[in-house]
Amino acid sequence: MPTESDTHYDPELGNKFIFVTGGVMSGLGKGITAASTGRLLKNAGFDVTAVKIDPYLNVDAGTMNPYQHGEVYVLEDGGEVDLDLGNYERFLDIDMTSDHNITTGKTYQHVIEKERAGDYLGKTVQIIPHVTDDIKRRIREAAEGTDVCLIEVGGTVGDIEGMPYLEALRQFAHEEPEENVLFAHVTLVPYSKNGEQKTKPTQHSVKEVRSIGLQPDVIVGRCEDRLDPETKEKIALFCDIPTDAVFSNPDVEDVYHVPLMVEEGGLDQYVLEHFGMAEEALPPADRTSDWRETVTTEKEGTVDVALVGKYDLEDAYMSIHESLKHAGFEVGVDVDVHWVPADDLADGHDGQLEGTDGVIVPGGFGMRGSEGKIEAVRYARENDIPFLGLCLGFQMAVVEYARNVLGLEGAHSAEMDEETPHPVIDILPEQYEVEDMGGTMRLGEHTTVIEPETLAYDLYDDTSCSERHRHRYEVNPEYFDAFEDEPLTFSGTAGNRMEILELEDHPYFLGTQFHPEYTSRPGQPSPPFLGLVEAVTAAEEHDDADGQSIGKTDGQTADDTETEVTH
Ligand code: GLN
Repeated sequence: MPTESDTHYDPELGNKFIFVTGGVMSGLGKGITAASTGRLLKNAGFDVTAVKIDPYLNVDAGTMNPYQHGEVYVLEDGGEVDLDLGNYERFLDIDMTSDHNITTGKTYQHVIEKERAGDYLGKTVQIIPHVTDDIKRRIREAAEGTDVCLIEVGGTVGDIEGMPYLEALRQFAHEEPEENVLFAHVTLVPYSKNGEQKTKPTQHSVKEVRSIGLQPDVIVGRCEDRLDPETKEKIALFCDIPTDAVFSNPDVEDVYHVPLMVEEGGLDQYVLEHFGMAEEALPPADRTSDWRETVTTEKEGTVDVALVGKYDLEDAYMSIHESLKHAGFEVGVDVDVHWVPADDLADGHDGQLEGTDGVIVPGGFGMRGSEGKIEAVRYARENDIPFLGLCLGFQMAVVEYARNVLGLEGAHSAEMDEETPHPVIDILPEQYEVEDMGGTMRLGEHTTVIEPETLAYDLYDDTSCSERHRHRYEVNPEYFDAFEDEPLTFSGTAGNRMEILELEDHPYFLGTQFHPEYTSRPGQPSPPFLGLVEAVTAAEEHDDADGQSIGKTDGQTADDTETEVTH
């Protein structure tokens, strides 16, 4: 947490708050718009943080199926949160805490606990003021010690679930000096059949916002292209804001180019002027230079990486995709990621891996796809294909080696096969008594000690690393001896826990019990991902042949009713 002395925070003036809501439909990328604006404010010299509001009743995202909600993002403090927090961490280069993800579940749980404790002294406990007060408190606490706090309300204005939050924001704005709050509304500006930019959906959604008592200061129009001057004027006139407070957010080829678009449109400068901070800020031209350099690196070719997972949904593996991009920025290659359904490999379709330059087996839960993941590890190990196994991928690499090299027939993880004769992966002792699913895994940042003169040491250039975890199972200590003197070694440990594995005489074979993908940032790629992309690129150059890419396969095969935590 930054201290007051290293921010511009002036207690007399208070924090500045940017509220971000979405209109017309969800999925407009208002989080990316907000995070990009935040990045520019940070580059202008201010301390910026963010709060994501998720109006669902789940206490956190930990129990959600990735098909419904994309990946569960894990924070340093072990919070299992919405994947948008990953975007804020990556764009703002900050470490957030669970308190930066407000959910209806968390808010109501707290209010009801207080009611049970008798803290409301006999009053009738109501959404207004008790829930709204709790929401305002959470926002103020999350903003403490920073200059600017972005508050993004998930969903779309008008959703019943979002109402208490918008009411809380209305009260919040009423309580704050006017110059401390800026309200940005992100809406969709579609094209009509004859190629005209249509403002009616924006007008309707702003009408909805105003009926709740909120007036946008800024409107951001998501459109395929930049908004025409006439479109901006129309929006300004009908929504009652100055024309220069209407900003374009056109489609860009890469989310990391959004800050460049924001700068071009001048939204950051508008915000700073609104807050009276423009004079202390670094000039606009200096705000994007480093970022631009990182995200527009010249690329010399493309490499293919197969992601052998359960979910045919990019969002389910968002941080992995982003980490590969960060590594690609550094190495100067585009990384094409192809999802390969783990189920297919179990059925002997490993032809799908042919021609791929690298293999990633990501984290996961449950039986479905596990045999295919083991098969992917075998393929990468035997064919000298650069390999990275993450969490479950690390565990499956241990199982594969136990079965196919150590000859431990039927070896498995006890998660997948309780009856296995060789549970080389077993439940963590502290999990024996755990019954609740939510928030009970081994979570968050833990330190791994790294053995010198290993691949892991070369990657991290250190004798330790601190990475985030999310698991219930680990390498079974009863099998440590079986791995003694093997080419597969555990080069990273935490006490009696095995955290990193690597294989001698292989171009790149690394597994981590932790999830390095949660700490990768543009300009600071995660070491295991950088190592993979470097190895893949080196192998490509060596072969000097065109990698034959594996095709993306459509269609789900098995049932996906299981949730992340279902055994
Ligand atoms: N299912 C495994 C465990 O609980 C791996 C978890 C993961 O990949 N995040 O240990």
